[in-house]
Amino acid sequence: MTGEAIVVKNAGSHYLLSALDAWAPFPAVLKGKIRLEAGTATNPVAVGDRVSYSYDIAPDEKNPATIVEVLDRKNYVIRRSTNLSRQSHVIAANVDMAYIVVSLYFPQIKLPFLDRILVTCEVYGVPVTIVLNKVDLYREEAAEYMADFHRIYGSAGYRVLETSVVTGEGIEALRQDIKGRVCLFSGESGVGKSSLIRSVDPSLNPKVGDISIAHLQGRHTTSLYEMYKVSSGGYIIDTPGLRGFGLVDLGKEEIYKYFPEMLRVSDNCRFVPCTHTHEPGCAVKAAVDDGTISPERYSSYLGMLEEDTKFR
Ligand code: GDP
Ligand code: ZN
Repeated sequence: MTGEAIVVKNAGSHYLLSALDAWAPFPAVLKGKIRLEAGTATNPVAVGDRVSYSYDIAPDEKNPATIVEVLDRKNYVIRRSTNLSRQSHVIAANVDMAYIVVSLYFPQIKLPFLDRILVTCEVYGVPVTIVLNKVDLYREEAAEYMADFHRIYGSAGYRVLETSVVTGEGIEALRQDIKGRVCLFSGESGVGKSSLIRSVDPSLNPKVGDISIAHLQGRHTTSLYEMYKVSSGGYIIDTPGLRGFGLVDLGKEEIYKYFPEMLRVSDNCRFVPCTHTHEPGCAVKAAVDDGTISPERYSSYLGMLEEDTKFR
């Protein structure tokens, strides 16, 4: 017999599959060769993948189903196995929304770092929402800093949700946003990503998961990813840290395409191709001068142009 389901957990060669609406995970294994869509990926099947599977009797621990095919992905997010390695690991597939959790300080936000994550999401074709957490800390003390943040990312076209785990502000809005979506959560350590996930659904406990991963697989193995069903609706895939996000190879001349606000005006540049750095009649530079494009984002772009060899 055969069926179709979503991969909700991937730990090495073991998988859990489930329908999303009728949530009931059951074990599955891979047999034979599965087409590798993501090129050099070490895992052919990732959390979020829609797969077809076969089984003889109702699958359980002793009789796992067999994954026979990975169906087409609408997008996927990968990480490099190591900085220099050509090998990559697919973190998640078919992501409806990536929530990038940031805080302005504790830890201090690094805009160029955030911009790289945003570029990565654009490259992968994953919609992004920035979650500005810990607003209780700066709603009053750092109102200007907050306004700056909104200016920079608002003008770039990104949606910014404000949240505070302490006051509860924005949590219900986030909960509503997650409903009906497969969501990826990412954020630098300390920004409050785990607290936020717990506020959205107290039955979820991401940090506990981390510990059992470390215990089971050793510190250096990060090949455990899991999708959690949120009780108010929707699904969360938690990713450890941001460093994990690798980048597909991106040529210098392509980088601007993944800054949506640059892409929007670049048709009007006098020269083609235009690096948007020194060329006369560059529409991007004009937009920076008139404030349509923020100097901070433009500066991140210049940084990425310079460092793109390190970036790969
Ligand atoms: P993670 O590493 O991103 O998962 O961060 P944690 O959820 O472990 O939170 C890191 C620290 O930030 C903890 O001490 C939390 O109590 C604190 N924290 C999380 N969210 C907020 C918030 O909205 N406001 C304030 N003031 N502190 C927060
Ligand atoms: Zn230009």
